[in-house]
Amino acid sequence: MNDEGTSAGGTWLELSVECDQEAVEAVSEILSRAASGGVSVEQPFTTEQEGLAAAPVPGAPATVRAYLPAIDRLAAEAAVTQARERLGHLTAFDLRPIGRLQVREVHEEDWASAWKQHFPVMRLGRRIVIKPTWRDYDPAPEDVVIALDPGMAFGTGLHPTTRLCLVGLEHWSDEGIVAGASAFDVGSGSGVLAVSAALLGAAPVRAVDTDAIAVEATLANAARNEVTVGASQGSLPVDDGPFDLVLANLVAGILVELAAELVASVRPGDGSPGSGGRLLASGIFIDREPEVRRAFAAAGLRVVGREQETDWVVLDLERTGP
Ligand code: SAH
Repeated sequence: MNDEGTSAGGTWLELSVECDQEAVEAVSEILSRAASGGVSVEQPFTTEQEGLAAAPVPGAPATVRAYLPAIDRLAAEAAVTQARERLGHLTAFDLRPIGRLQVREVHEEDWASAWKQHFPVMRLGRRIVIKPTWRDYDPAPEDVVIALDPGMAFGTGLHPTTRLCLVGLEHWSDEGIVAGASAFDVGSGSGVLAVSAALLGAAPVRAVDTDAIAVEATLANAARNEVTVGASQGSLPVDDGPFDLVLANLVAGILVELAAELVASVRPGDGSPGSGGRLLASGIFIDREPEVRRAFAAAGLRVVGREQETDWVVLDLERTGP
């Protein structure tokens, strides 16, 4: 069966670029324009606590990878040429070192198994444990264990922006605002955030992603964890909002672009602090934080929390007013 090269067993072109942390966002943007299959960022990590936790290696270069279906040769070659040109411009204008664009063909089965070696059981925050479906884990009593198979979708839990969201979600849970709350995951990828919210007691949980592969992965991971996530392909706005809790792990540019619609999807408050719904905005590269803050302030949100890991920032925002 050959379903545009995106079905199981399809052949993909993998584009990868090794670059400094500072260049990750720009390189991700360029590769994501070329690739319909999503972009992932691999930060080198060391495992700690006998493989039960992963810590990023500060200062080590990251690898940005993107996948596009190889079935349409001409389109794929055009996309690669364009990405190479854009990276060339970036190298010309940027002082940060960027590696050469590497292109290789991968078969979906090989891709999936190659990833598995780099995906340990990970504890995030105090209680959240991401357990790849092919690994064993003996949970502690308080643990919230998420069984995950990312497949081709982004959201392995290794990316700092995902980890930051999970930590933010755990803070919300500690505040007592997750159980029984409605939640909305914008750009769900593997569904890691939506499924975690559901496991922490949020209901109903809704998710959208522009990528069909991500929607499939989100539904599969929800089923695997025996929770319900209403996932569909698309973006904002959705007509079943507003929601008590909104999770948006996107890049800064998209957060700014979608700020008004994101805010509209958060339940309004009555003007007093603590009365409104909350938004976790993640995927913010630190030098773009001021821009993102301005966009959300203009759209009526106030910042109630902030976390940072390496150069990535997550903002916890409240829609205090109407
Ligand atoms: N929530 C996951 C994945 C984040 S990656 C995690 O935290 O790990 C961002 C995801 O957003 C990708 O799957 C991408 O396909 C999706 N996306 C990008 N732009 C979007 C948009 N405008 N609307 C909805 N989803 C979008």
